[in-house]
Amino acid sequence: MEDRVLQSLLIGMFSVPLLIFLINLIIGPGTAASFAAGFAALVFLGIYLAYWRSGDTGWIRRTAVSALLVVVIPPTFVTNAGLDGGFGYFTLMFGLIVVSITREGRERVWFSALYAIILITLVLGDLTFLRDVYPEISIASLRFKRAYSLLISAATVYILFQVYASRYLQEHRRLMESQDRIQKYNDELFRQARIDSLTGVPNRRDAVERVQAIMEIAERNNRDFAILLCDMDHFKTFNDDYGHDCGDYLLKEVAQELQQSIRAQDFVARWGGEEFLIVLPETNQDGASELAEKLRKRVEHLELVFAGMRHQLTLTIGFAARNEDRIASLDEYLKEADRALYFGKESGRNRIVSAASLADQNGP
Ligand code: GH3
Ligand code: MG
Ligand code: MG
Repeated sequence: MEDRVLQSLLIGMFSVPLLIFLINLIIGPGTAASFAAGFAALVFLGIYLAYWRSGDTGWIRRTAVSALLVVVIPPTFVTNAGLDGGFGYFTLMFGLIVVSITREGRERVWFSALYAIILITLVLGDLTFLRDVYPEISIASLRFKRAYSLLISAATVYILFQVYASRYLQEHRRLMESQDRIQKYNDELFRQARIDSLTGVPNRRDAVERVQAIMEIAERNNRDFAILLCDMDHFKTFNDDYGHDCGDYLLKEVAQELQQSIRAQDFVARWGGEEFLIVLPETNQDGASELAEKLRKRVEHLELVFAGMRHQLTLTIGFAARNEDRIASLDEYLKEADRALYFGKESGRNRIVSAASLADQNGP
């Protein structure tokens, strides 16, 4: 948007003097006036082309100011008639308008002051030279007419552009801010959709996606991989005997303990009510067994105090590791780990059971 405004202004900057130049060429005598206008048109056309190619607004600002100060104004003074009628001044306003439209705060004040100085200089220069060009005009009427039309037109255009610029910038800033808010909100929603609100660990939905990606990589590169299903033992009795809040507290503590006990590349997720899934890339049967045992012990020895009362809690863990001899789906691994978990519960809880050990017992 800002770009398009700038571009339109730049096109105006060269097309207005160009028009003056062409009209002068066709119907006028081709005086110094037409050449001044043609010169201005060329300069602005150059700026426009450079901008169009580079798209650099900083560069265009600098060049517009330099062109205005160094290249356009002196010839304008020399060939004062080039700005005859006051309309030619109009073209000179564009440069600073373009500059100030993209400025803010103190910079805009500075550019505005510069702009005022240029205008005053133009008016003064006008008064000094005009009598030589038009000896028949009364100085008083000329002074009034030209200064008045110049200042009024300049002030009008300038104020309109400033108002527009500040409105535009305000709007732009608001838009950016709301976009930022929406982005943050979306990120938060995305995060919340994947995090279990009670324990703060990833939820089942997040886990399924991640574990599937991990499994794919493991299968493709023939790497180890294991999953652990951890279920809290007799969890219902904690809820029943000490209240739901106590159960929540225990869930949080155990989730935290599990998360702190695994490597960065592993992850733990809340799989169901009091059941956690742990995914272990690059881990074989022995590694999984070792970690499962470590987790079991750590939870067993956790210091759990709720409402001044100590609690002891245990986990039963069923686990399955990738077997190179066959390709299995995530569901199959989960089923195996679940079966091992069930077996662990049946055989007394607070223990770890590997799916492979069940397979060995039951045969292939
Ligand atoms: P087992 O040793 O066989 O696993 O027995 P259990 O009592 O742990 O298993 P069961 O499946 O009978 O009970 C699980 C309980 O977990 C029941 C449910 O109310 C509780 N639970 C599930 N989600 C939450 C939760 O977010 N907060 C609390 N406080 N309890 C929960
Ligand atoms: Mg359960
Ligand atoms: Mg349980």
